[in-house]
Amino acid sequence: MINIVLFGPPGSGKGTQAKKLIEKYNLIHLSTGDILRNEIAHGTVLGEKAKAFIDAGELVPDDDIKAMVLKKFDEHKDSNGFIFDGFPRTCDQARFLRHELTDRDLRINIMITLNVPKEEIIGRLLKRAEIEGRPDDTKSIIEKRIEIYQNQAVAISGFYERMQKYVPIDGVGTVDEIFQRICNAVDATI
Ligand code: UDP
Ligand code: MG
Repeated sequence: MINIVLFGPPGSGKGTQAKKLIEKYNLIHLSTGDILRNEIAHGTVLGEKAKAFIDAGELVPDDDIKAMVLKKFDEHKDSNGFIFDGFPRTCDQARFLRHELTDRDLRINIMITLNVPKEEIIGRLLKRAEIEGRPDDTKSIIEKRIEIYQNQAVAISGFYERMQKYVPIDGVGTVDEIFQRICNAVDATI
């Protein structure tokens, strides 16, 4: 089992790198943001509830996120491991994840933080808005999401630093360069 937490501000490349990592290491991609967008697309009760938070750039309540993660664990009992993309986003979620993994005799190998300067991520997200048209990729909502990220980042990084899992990585460069940096860090844990 390899379990990787991919952390970083919105637009730091988590989704892009997660896709490459799941192929290379044969892992399950657990993106809570993707699950929520899927719920919205299907008009579920959770989707309806989540949409209001997402459109405002705010976090969906911990209990909803936790339930989604547990469901995904149940669906993939025999997997090689998970990439947690965009989760945990709060310390409560981080403690929950550690608890649920411990219960299953599992652990996090590494928590990778992709560091990208604010000006660069804003540029990337505005470009993504033109391509994907996500309603939360507008200038003011992006600012809000970055602010929420920054408010949580120190505590979440500290949580994984104390567990000696925290590895900051420079998220500026080509996709392949950054992927190589991540793989070097992951390979050192297995
Ligand atoms: N979101 C959330 N909890 C999660 C994942 C996503 O509340 O665990 C919401 C939140 O409103 C966030 C939005 O979904 O701003 C988009 O999240 P995603 O991770 O897809 O976007 P990213 O930050 O990677 O651009
Ligand atoms: Mg993402």
